[in-house]
Amino acid sequence: MASRSIRGIRMTASPNRISGAGRVVERAGGSVTPPHYPLWPLANTGVVALGRPFPGLPSPPVRSSAERRELLKGVYEEARGCVRCPLHHTRTTVVFGNGNANADLMFIGEAPGANEDRMGLPFVGQAGKLLDKLLAEIGMERNDVFVANTLKCRPPDNRDPHPNEIEACQEYLRRQVDLIEPTVICTLGNFSTKLLRADSTGISRLHGRAEIRVIGPRAVRLYPLYHPAAALYTSSTLEALRMDFHRIPELLALGPPEQPRAFEEPIPELDELLVEIQDPAGAGEAEPAAQLGLF
Ligand code: URA
Repeated sequence: MASRSIRGIRMTASPNRISGAGRVVERAGGSVTPPHYPLWPLANTGVVALGRPFPGLPSPPVRSSAERRELLKGVYEEARGCVRCPLHHTRTTVVFGNGNANADLMFIGEAPGANEDRMGLPFVGQAGKLLDKLLAEIGMERNDVFVANTLKCRPPDNRDPHPNEIEACQEYLRRQVDLIEPTVICTLGNFSTKLLRADSTGISRLHGRAEIRVIGPRAVRLYPLYHPAAALYTSSTLEALRMDFHRIPELLALGPPEQPRAFEEPIPELDELLVEIQDPAGAGEAEPAAQLGLF
């Protein structure tokens, strides 16, 4: 596995878990995994190579809380009228997500169920009650977090989301994450975990293992958890969910992970390559600009 260290960040060319099984264990300086975006498109994400945006892409903007809320409202207005996938034919309400737009902690579930579809709010059924209970156990409430789903519209009969629906909907989620700028994202269950990790590894292998992931232009602490709905029916899953959940404060206390360094320093290999191309004989003469224009 190719790996190198730049300014204390270990850069690794393959998914890099930073936790032991069931334990949040962060390595010194953190670890940044380059994303692949099969379902999370490159457009507007701030393309990242080995944890840093390519030169030429803008750095993440700095926003006030008011700006963030206004921009989020704009995304909501767009989503409300969404007809990007067939679910718009059967939905009652677009369930955009709710909570604190300035939250450090964001939860991403699967898709609205019947209650959510009727009320227009995420996690208002039994799974939501469990989420509230677990939040209370760590001294938090809904207003402290932002809760959203992978799909904003209910799949009929609560069937699993289809790939074309996830594809059509993912831009809303990406924009929510970009605007809210959470430090910790808890993916609940398989669908959001697979989407955000761009990998098919299942939740039973990943739950409780925090890792640093670059999502859009920022690095976040991604913390996959079992979906509360799964924990409603299986006591061992509930036990695991509760144990993992109780480590959230520890993760939040770490603060934001080290961010990709945009444009601060050249990528060494690229620099070396350019020197070779421009000065193959090593004569030290700069190539005239007009020559470069020929290519
Ligand atoms: N399950 C989810 O994933 N989301 C909801 O909003 C409700 C149940």
